[in-house]
Amino acid sequence: MLADKKYFLFDIDGTLGVDDTLYEGSAELISYIETIGGRAFYITNNSVKSRKDYVKKFERWGIKTEESQFMTASYAACRYLEKHYRGKKLFVLGTPSFAEEVRSFGLTVTEKAEDGVECVVVGFDRTLSYEKVEAACELLFCSEVDFIATNPDLRCPTAFGFVPDCGGICAMLAAAVGRTPRYIGKPDAKIVSLCTKQVCAESGEVLVVGDRLYTDIACGINAGVETALVYTGEAKPEDLEASEFCPDHTFDDINELYQEFRKSRGEA
Ligand SMILES: [Mg+2]
Repeated sequence: MLADKKYFLFDIDGTLGVDDTLYEGSAELISYIETIGGRAFYITNNSVKSRKDYVKKFERWGIKTEESQFMTASYAACRYLEKHYRGKKLFVLGTPSFAEEVRSFGLTVTEKAEDGVECVVVGFDRTLSYEKVEAACELLFCSEVDFIATNPDLRCPTAFGFVPDCGGICAMLAAAVGRTPRYIGKPDAKIVSLCTKQVCAESGEVLVVGDRLYTDIACGINAGVETALVYTGEAKPEDLEASEFCPDHTFDDINELYQEFRKSRGEA
């Protein structure tokens, strides 16, 4: 039930806003969650920005946050790499910010197809060049080199439509090398538990909110919590019929969720 929710795990792009624009109702809902003693978390498959970048982005939106509220696919991937590739060389196909984040976990990063690379790590790379694509392909033709990626999203919403996201870049690589990566971000349920463990949340108190069925909604389902879909990003009402991932709640936008949540708690 909506009325029982205290911990909201929001997707960002296409859910709370797009590019630099914050949707109406986002700041109001986040502030309302605080007034009822809850907490908002931000689980995003965007691997361009680090958690620090997001704190700054939210500051520009007038929303005060802490790094611990952000669970990005790049952060989750770094936690995974830290566990499995300590002391080993990684080829990162990603933004300078992502490469820096990987390094900050004490890992060794290169952007060249050189000897000793044990894993190709792909993020949503807005600085992508064909040179990097060629280097990644060269490495991936060695079957001993592992293939890891931050998130399976095929496309990322923009003000004009969409651009290829990490999953789209990996689809291009897969077409050339015949291999698909292991994805670390949503819909993996771990990204949910990294948040809910911080506040010892009961599953009935948690709501995952997003605009995509195969990442956001699937992630909530995998984690065993309720989900809400908003129609301001990728998914459209007609997509629900064909989808194996069914949200518990659907809203036109975040403002409608805000209004309905207040109503469910007896506030107009
Ligand atoms: Mg989204």
